[in-house]
Amino acid sequence: MKNRKIVVIVGGGPAGMMAAWWLAEKFEVHLFEKEKMIGQKFLLAGKGGFNLTNRLSGETLLPKYSPAGFLDKALLEFDSQKLREWLIQLGIPTYEGSSGRVFPDRGITPSDVLKKILSSLVSRGVVFHLKHKLSSFSKEMVFKFLTPEREVSMKADFAVMAMGGASWPSTGSDGFWTKLFNDRGIATMPFQPSNCGINIAWPDSVIKFHSGKPLKNIELKVNNKVSRGEALITEYGLEGNAVYPLVPAIRNLFASNEIPVISLDFKPVNTFVQLKEKISRNNVKTSDYQAIFKLNSVSMALIKAYSDKESFFKPDRFAYLVKNLLISVASLRPVEEAISTVGGLNVDELNPDFSLKKYPAISCIGEMADWDAPTGGFLLQGSFSMGYYAAESILNEAIQGNSEGRV
Ligand SMILES: Cc1cc2nc3c(=O)[nH]c(=O)nc-3n(C[C@H](O)[C@H](O)[C@H](O)COP(=O)(O)OP(=O)(O)OC[C@H]3O[C@@H](n4cnc5c(N)ncnc54)[C@H](O)[C@@H]3O)c2cc1C
Repeated sequence: MKNRKIVVIVGGGPAGMMAAWWLAEKFEVHLFEKEKMIGQKFLLAGKGGFNLTNRLSGETLLPKYSPAGFLDKALLEFDSQKLREWLIQLGIPTYEGSSGRVFPDRGITPSDVLKKILSSLVSRGVVFHLKHKLSSFSKEMVFKFLTPEREVSMKADFAVMAMGGASWPSTGSDGFWTKLFNDRGIATMPFQPSNCGINIAWPDSVIKFHSGKPLKNIELKVNNKVSRGEALITEYGLEGNAVYPLVPAIRNLFASNEIPVISLDFKPVNTFVQLKEKISRNNVKTSDYQAIFKLNSVSMALIKAYSDKESFFKPDRFAYLVKNLLISVASLRPVEEAISTVGGLNVDELNPDFSLKKYPAISCIGEMADWDAPTGGFLLQGSFSMGYYAAESILNEAIQGNSEGRV
């Protein structure tokens, strides 16, 4: 290893692990992680659905990410197909669920996936430094780390920072690294929740009788953003796959001091005209609504709670409410609970290959940068793609002396 260039990777999440894996082919790679375990958020992701990526590949992946263009090259060079091939190489076959989400094959647990990645990293010579928290870095490429016993330092030729966002801080991704960056004049944005639940000031009756109940096959709309799926009524509001895609639109409305209002459609497969036809065929009483419109008790309770008496008693007005029940959003759930965050490193600080403009030998990848994507495997795909792309750029520069990739 003596004459090989040294790469310091900070952060043992999917982005850092991916960068380490490719860089280890040519370099002496040291991966520093502040926790006593690598990949804690990755394991947490595995407790839910564990969507490693999505069926979408190539160009079709790109519209899922914002800001537009920021991740394009990385996603095109290392898309879901390439990620799945890489996983197979490590002994992790995957399959596509009906929703397009890609999971590890049945019988392969999240901890199996992590173990296989880690053992592959070990066999490629990556050196792990656990319980090492980055405490400073310099233009001279000296990186200092706090350990439980002392401060240690390492000089590197290149570095890749992959310190994550700020949700679920118990996994290690606490976002405290922003101070280190701000101290060096590198701009960061406050972290905000993404892919999170929403707070709604439910009437007491909804909380008392309906929290914990799902709303299935619904459509939600905020401004022009539409999302179909399922939502769970909780004491504080709504959670679920129909809610998360609306969060960017809700966040933007709050930012412009507007109160976001969700339009809830209980029957997205029926048009308003079709619903009206149902009532024209019957001499309708309010006690018939549930059977005529095929609504469950939760839907009925919500319509009752969010309509005035006059509308509720008029069948055609009621039919309209079935398609368009307006509910105000009080706020987003806290950063700590979100599946992902936006904010963190301002992307204007980065070159197209994710190297820092002020420190070109240091790349910053994964959720620590201010980009966004929905759930469904797109978050992990984004982090893995950035890891690959940053590594390729470093390899390109160091081996071929080609500095094009670094600007
Ligand atoms: C409940 C939940 C479920 C999820 N499910 C999915 C899913 O199914 N599919 C999907 O695509 N995505 C999912 N995600 C999102 C996904 O896990 C993250 O987007 C992804 O882990 C981000 O990877 P990363 O490598 O950028 O950062 P992280 O995984 O957050 O890793 C960052 C690492 O850096 C370390 N670190 C931080 N500061 C320092 C420091 N100063 N010094 C040293 N180390 C440091 C942290 O301890 C951490 O280990 C889920 C997230 C959550 C919370």
